[in-house]
Amino acid sequence: MPHRDLHSKITNYNDLLEGNRKWVEETLQEDPEYFHRLAKGQEPPVLWIGCSDSRVPANQVTGTLPGEVFVHRNIANVVSHADLNLLSVMDYAVNVLKVKYIIVAGHYKCGGIAAALTNKQFGVIDNWLRHIKDVYRLHKAEVDAIEDPKAKEDRMVELNVVEGVLNVCKTTIIQNAWSSGQELSVHGWVIDIHTGYVKDQHVSVSNNDQMDKVYQMDRF
Ligand code: ZN
Repeated sequence: MPHRDLHSKITNYNDLLEGNRKWVEETLQEDPEYFHRLAKGQEPPVLWIGCSDSRVPANQVTGTLPGEVFVHRNIANVVSHADLNLLSVMDYAVNVLKVKYIIVAGHYKCGGIAAALTNKQFGVIDNWLRHIKDVYRLHKAEVDAIEDPKAKEDRMVELNVVEGVLNVCKTTIIQNAWSSGQELSVHGWVIDIHTGYVKDQHVSVSNNDQMDKVYQMDRF
């Protein structure tokens, strides 16, 4: 992989097309059948719910290839009950692709989390970031007890992931998959942007019994 500075070397739109040509040529040199195989379909075992931040791409972070991870990304990896986009991605991933693992992946130095901890208005995004303020409200005592602003922000990144995992599990998509015996586990990760390593938050859930009774949904 070529070394890259923080500032992109992409200065011209055509650089992107040139990058694509180079990637195709290099891939074919290594594996002439690569695209032929890829075109046959996908059976990814993983659904990734991550942040849109350009520094945390699902495949690179996990050392996986195209075809292995089904991806949804939004600002600050929010899992909202009313997000039709995410619900559609989850429905397809669980009921059609039959993924085995769902990973909610946050990352330190997340601009969305930092913004949500301020009292500034940023525009339309304020409505989206309100979900993160709700995470703060749920864990106010713990977060308020942290004095260092950086440590506070880091903990909020972690708590947003924990709540994201629970919100995934509360959906009828996941509840129904579990009650029909589908093998499926949901995990929470934080990517440490300083090292590249993932910190597993150890909040994995793999069946209904691990959920609070109020969120256990009977099938209709
Ligand atoms: Zn982020």
